[in-house]
Amino acid sequence: MTHPHVPLGTFPTPLEPAPRLAAALGLGPDDLWVKRDDLTGLGGGGNKIRKLEWTLGAALADGADTLVTTGAPQSNHARLTAAAGARLGLAVVLVLRGSPGASHSGNLALDGLFGARLAWAGQVDQAGLDAAAAEVCARLRAGGARPALVPFGGSSVLGARGYLRCGAELREQLPDLRTAVVALGSGGTMAGLVAALGSGAVLGIDVGALADPAAAVVEFAAPLTSEKVSPEGLRIRRDQVGAGYAVLTGPVRDALRLAARTEGLPLDPVYTGRALAGLQAAITDGTVRPGEKTVLLHTGGLPGLFGHPDAVGFAEEGAGVFDR
Ligand SMILES: *Cc1c(COP(=O)(O)O)cnc(C)c1O
Repeated sequence: MTHPHVPLGTFPTPLEPAPRLAAALGLGPDDLWVKRDDLTGLGGGGNKIRKLEWTLGAALADGADTLVTTGAPQSNHARLTAAAGARLGLAVVLVLRGSPGASHSGNLALDGLFGARLAWAGQVDQAGLDAAAAEVCARLRAGGARPALVPFGGSSVLGARGYLRCGAELREQLPDLRTAVVALGSGGTMAGLVAALGSGAVLGIDVGALADPAAAVVEFAAPLTSEKVSPEGLRIRRDQVGAGYAVLTGPVRDALRLAARTEGLPLDPVYTGRALAGLQAAITDGTVRPGEKTVLLHTGGLPGLFGHPDAVGFAEEGAGVFDR
């Protein structure tokens, strides 16, 4: 079966060395590389573009005229769905957890700029969010529209196909890659990488978006590979979740500073900062070692830094005041 695909991003993304960050982490200067999937182009970039190329390919083939998806208020996936809808001439409704707050910064500013309509679902769990999205779709259909529901985080077996291609890019860019480190949210990104590179080559750092992230990765990866994918065979760390999905932790704050001050590389407080904090923990406990090639997936998310209540703290703190 062939799957329709719509080109949205700019590929392949660069793979860049990070020698100063490597040294700060206790790795050799050639050991650490950053896969710049924050530079996928459309809508400010990020990992969701690769998945949307497949899920929106299917939506277009089905004749959809409206995209509906779900997420947290600062969802990067929602923002990139809004951008892709604009690019493709489709209406977009974002069903977001919570209520319209005082803050319209970060991703929410971009959602509005891209012309998406927002439907606030209240403080609901995942099932409540799905129910709200189903209701929005029913209402759109009743009004004569043809909605397509894009899954949470863009993650499904179909969406994970986007990361098969990223895995192939990595194989070509760094043939002796030992470990690709990636933030694990809704699971599609890690799943595609696992299908492309094998379970042993991918270290997922759970961000706390799902109750059972390993099950999601297995569900999305298994149909894409002949390798047997099992929860036990996956490399997943759950030690960076802290107090929960959107809450900035001490190790993540340190990781954000470290990447910014060694490489001029901004990470985000929810995903990529956790990925680096998880890599740091893996180096400390010896599961990632000097002399091996390690890739940190930069999956994007910068608007989330500007939408995060603690981001302002970085501006106030700086590196101290220069006294003149
Ligand atoms: C969504 C997201 C992830 C996680 O990807 P999943 O496929 O949902 O696991 C990582 N980083 C950023 C910046 C994201 O927006």
